[in-house]
Amino acid sequence: MTTKARKTPGIFKPTVAIIGGGLSGSLVAIQLLRQARKPIRILLIERDDLPGRGVAYRDQPECHRLNVRAEAMSAYADQPDHFLNWLNEQYSPCHPVGTSEFLPRRIYGAYIESLLDAASRDARPGVTLEVRTDEVVGLVEAPHAMTLHLLDQRRLRADLVVLACGNPGPADPKLPNAGALTGRSYVGQAWSTPGLYAVRPDEDLLLIGSGLTALDWLVSLATRGHRGRIELISRRGLLPHPHRPAPPHKLSFDPQALPPNLRLHLRALRKEVTSVSATNGDWRSVIDALRPHTQALWLHFSEREQRRFLRHLRPYWEVHRHRAAPSVMATVDTLMRQGQMRLRAGRLIDLHEADERLNVRVRLRGKNEVSEFCVDRVINCTGPECDYRRLDHPLIVSLREQGLISADSLGLGLTTNSFGALCTQDGTASTRLFTLGPPRKGQLWETTAVPEIRVQAQALARYLLEQSVVQVTPQPIHQAAWA
Ligand SMILES: Cc1cc2nc3c(=O)[nH]c(=O)nc-3n(C[C@H](O)[C@H](O)[C@H](O)COP(=O)(O)OP(=O)(O)OC[C@H]3O[C@@H](n4cnc5c(N)ncnc54)[C@H](O)[C@@H]3O)c2cc1C
Repeated sequence: MTTKARKTPGIFKPTVAIIGGGLSGSLVAIQLLRQARKPIRILLIERDDLPGRGVAYRDQPECHRLNVRAEAMSAYADQPDHFLNWLNEQYSPCHPVGTSEFLPRRIYGAYIESLLDAASRDARPGVTLEVRTDEVVGLVEAPHAMTLHLLDQRRLRADLVVLACGNPGPADPKLPNAGALTGRSYVGQAWSTPGLYAVRPDEDLLLIGSGLTALDWLVSLATRGHRGRIELISRRGLLPHPHRPAPPHKLSFDPQALPPNLRLHLRALRKEVTSVSATNGDWRSVIDALRPHTQALWLHFSEREQRRFLRHLRPYWEVHRHRAAPSVMATVDTLMRQGQMRLRAGRLIDLHEADERLNVRVRLRGKNEVSEFCVDRVINCTGPECDYRRLDHPLIVSLREQGLISADSLGLGLTTNSFGALCTQDGTASTRLFTLGPPRKGQLWETTAVPEIRVQAQALARYLLEQSVVQVTPQPIHQAAWA
């Protein structure tokens, strides 16, 4: 990352601090740099990776693919071909990339990083970006500013703060013998590449969870010539469906005009799928046609209906909506056909170390049966723990204890207003603290993929720039720097 701050001495300018340099934080920074007409100081603080990468797009194996075609991954909603043009003009001019390719995710990280560089270079005078590698471990609000506490004890003053911490790691399974989860044979953070490289080819493995993270592991293991047995368990034993060509479809009903009743919506959806299938169409076209309505529908449903969705439909929705690249699913099919991998519906109920291996007990779904077997390593692929009432990162604890954030009632994220301003525990929307992307899941449901995050980033940047003019007490730049 070559971004450098260009200081303009003597100019008064507000500071916007962005905590987290994953996709969300980087897109907000890019949008601020592009939209700002007056001097502003943007601080992007990322604890471990190059900015623009986050958990999804960091430097990882080539076989970790985007689960969306390249044509739908532009960073800018108003320039749909931007990613494709970048690929063909800057990244790979000699080997043109097709619109429907599922590219390695690390290429997408390189794309976002290059946009950050370009936006910083092209910003108007006085509009500056500083990228810091550090971890924010606390945040305190004073009447006219926020103070960020960093891991290395330093403090940083900011006028406005964007919490872009994204996807927290998964929660450990609740087991009677939690000690078994502290050893080297348990990989609690499945997104960590070192965890993958520690696996020997002949190890028998248990993967908990069968979503897209488990698929990442399966393709990596297959690519590395893994020979050991691989057991997968998840509550329902479902795998994501593969993408297939599915022409755009116009729904024959207006989902937003239906009463906010889950059963009615499910019935209408099933009817639509039946009618599309009758004309040799594909259910994927129907699911994709619903996508532009998903946020509005979620807001339309009462909390009771949302809970019913989470309890009964969520796993089925996830495997239809979050599909995998065809090449990934072909690899998984081969592993299953060859008998190297087995997927079962069940719940891990016990884990014990036995003769340098792990003895596993799984209660199988719908059966009064416990399956017991031994593996060399257990990998937690259950996805992010989104319940902010339970997260124990010091920054989140600090915000929670001051009442500056409140977990949404579904335990999926944080309460925000329509601009992404975080709501305090008494329900007041902050004028200084904002978020976007994954933490807004409880409120918007569809908020974790690129098409939603890019729109939120653009709108939030516009709002922050307006706020910074209206709300911020100007500070000379030398006072606004490290306190
Ligand atoms: C494995 C995976 C694959 C995906 N594939 C696709 C895809 O193909 N297409 C698609 O549209 N979407 C995809 N998504 C969804 C989406 O793009 C991601 O959810 C995206 O990563 C969200 O970005 P984020 O910046 O909000 O969160 P994150 O990616 O989690 O980034 C947050 C960043 O904040 C940093 N951070 C956290 N706390 C602190 C702190 N206290 N101080 C400093 N830094 C901190 C972290 O180190 C991290 O880099 C994928 C998601 C995952 C997890």
